[in-house]
This record gives sequence, structure tokens and C-alpha cells, in this order.
Amino acid sequence: MLVDILAKMYSHFYNVQVDPMNEVLVTVGAYLSLYYAFLGWVNKGDEVLIIEPAYDCYYPQVKFAGGVPVPIVMNLAEGATSASQFTIDFDDMEKKINKKTKMLVINNPHNPTGKLFTRQELEKLAEIAKKHNLIVIADEVYEFHVWDKNDMVRFASLPGMYERTISIGSAGKAFSVTGWKLGWAVGPKQLLEPLKAIHQNCVFTCSTPTQMAIAQAFQLDWPKFLNDPKNSYLATGLSDELRDKRDKLARMLEEGNFRPIIPDAGYFMLADYSHLKEGLKLATEQDPDDFVFSRWLCREKKLAVIPPSAFYSSREQKEKNCNMVRLCYFKKNDTLDAAEVILKKLGKE
Ligand code: PMP
Repeated sequence: MLVDILAKMYSHFYNVQVDPMNEVLVTVGAYLSLYYAFLGWVNKGDEVLIIEPAYDCYYPQVKFAGGVPVPIVMNLAEGATSASQFTIDFDDMEKKINKKTKMLVINNPHNPTGKLFTRQELEKLAEIAKKHNLIVIADEVYEFHVWDKNDMVRFASLPGMYERTISIGSAGKAFSVTGWKLGWAVGPKQLLEPLKAIHQNCVFTCSTPTQMAIAQAFQLDWPKFLNDPKNSYLATGLSDELRDKRDKLARMLEEGNFRPIIPDAGYFMLADYSHLKEGLKLATEQDPDDFVFSRWLCREKKLAVIPPSAFYSSREQKEKNCNMVRLCYFKKNDTLDAAEVILKKLGKE
């Protein structure tokens, strides 16, 4: 059963005994685990700390639950070239905590930046969570998309954190089958209880064949992950494939005169396009520049990107953070080659 192998894996990762029947919940994608977690725990007026730029469903999901999303905006050094240069101002974060603050959402590895939080950063977040008695949602759907499996510090593995953390994973991400829409929440029984109550009455159960297939995939890979990582998709296969594509896209972007922000993990990359702005009439009253630029790139140059200002909630931050695009490099080589032709041309324009 899927819950058995997930419990086995996460018992290893968190160094606790995860009970498959009570401490794992399989859902329709990680999306639904997130939604259940907010719906189950956030009451009207409760505040939820969200680190921005943030995966775009957190904000509306918190609001659907009646909560108040409180953005904690990361800083990025001028001229940055690495996702690790996105940093949290922890003092600013603590200033935003009050009696209504109930929850903290951590997305690691991080979408859209590709940042992998360091142990030190996570320990600081753990200290804050403990001090203010926060429930933590650890969205770790890209947990296997790291270049070295040991670099990934799962939040629930930090001392005392399993007890207050709902960790969220995705089979779609782990096995590169995003359309399969199978995810899970792992956490102590009392934290999962409201999620299970919602699931039982709204969905009841997820597709059995999909669960069986994913269970088999994990059962096959897990012993290799532990003892033969060179032959494990999750330990090295996925990340080797990703690393080559990341390097290729970074080179291509430089040729196109973009400034890539090299990710530490995941399959997205941000890139600054400021120089191209000069030649383009951008700002409109409704849309930040990166929306206009992304539309132009998509319609006129046939290169599909995402505007990262969509990952900020306030107008002010959207306007401050509209000089980049987010690209996905987990594409077939033919697709990357076609993008290279477009980027090369752009670089010469
Ligand atoms: N969290 C993050 C950070 C994601 O990027 C995604 C998918 N893009 C999800 C959750 C949702 O995952 P799933 O497809 O399993 O619902």
C-alpha cells in the first residue's frame, strides 16, 4: 500500500516512527493536501505567514479558509546570479507575528526561485515557529529535485519540528508525472485529523490504480535510494537529468542577454530581462511589465515563460519585482534546442 511505503520513507527522512494509518494522508495532488491543511486549521481571521515570492495557490487557499495571508518578502541582492541570494529578513518576519498568527508556510525547494533553504535558515524558522507556537506547512514537493540528496533538509527532521509540521509531497513531482495528480500530507495524528475529516467527506479516497502504481514505483526505487544511489531515479537519475538541462538553459539565457539566477534545486529558473525592456513599450495601467513582456515573448517569439510578479501579493511588490521571467528547463532536448534558436536571435536584436 502507498501509505506503507510513504511511512517507511518518511520515518527514515524525519527520524521518527511514522504510522502509515494515522500519519499519512494521500490526496489528489499536493494541491489538495495544501487546501485541506488551510481549511482544516485556519479559522476566520487567523494569520498565515507566507514567504514571497510564493507559489500562487497559497494566498487564495488561505483566503478561502477565512484566513489572512501575511507576506514575508525575501530580499534579492542587486545583480544576483544565484537563487541562494534570496534571503529572509527574520527580524522583519518576527515583527509581523502577533496573537492571531497561526501558521507558517515554507516551500523548500522553492518555486519560483529554485532556492534550497540551508539548514541554518531552516533552524532559524524552526526557532521562530517554536517561540510563537506556529503550525508549519512544509511544501516539499521538489524534495528529490536536488543535485545531492543530502543537501535537502526536510523541515520535519529538525529537532522538535515533526510535532508541529504538516509536510506535503507529490508523486507527480517525484516521478515526473505531473498529470497523475497524487500527493500526500505527513504529520502527527492530531495535526492530520481535520485534513482527514475533510477528505473523508469531500473526496473519500484517491484513485486506487494510481496509488498502486506509485507505491510500486517507490518500492522499487527506495532500496536503491538507500544502498545504490547511482541506480536510483530519486537519488540521482532525476537530478542528473535536471542538472544538464539547467546548465544548458543558463548558457542559452546568457546568449540571449538575459541574466539567469541559477537555481539550487527544482526545475524552474528566473532570469532578468531588463536590457530588453529598453526596446519595448511595456508598462500598462493594469499589468506589471513582466506580464506584458511574457505575453510578447509568447505571442511574438513563441517562447512561453511565466511572469514572477504573479508570485507577490501586493501591487508595490509586483511593481518592484517585474524585471524577470520564470522558465521551466525540465523539457525535452528538442524543445530546449528550439528555445535556443529563439534566444540566440533575441541576443542579436
Ligand atoms: N506546491 C508547489 C510549490 C508546486 O510547484 C506544485 C505544482 N506546480 C504543487 C504544490 C502542486 O503539486 P501537485 O501537482 O502534486 O498538485
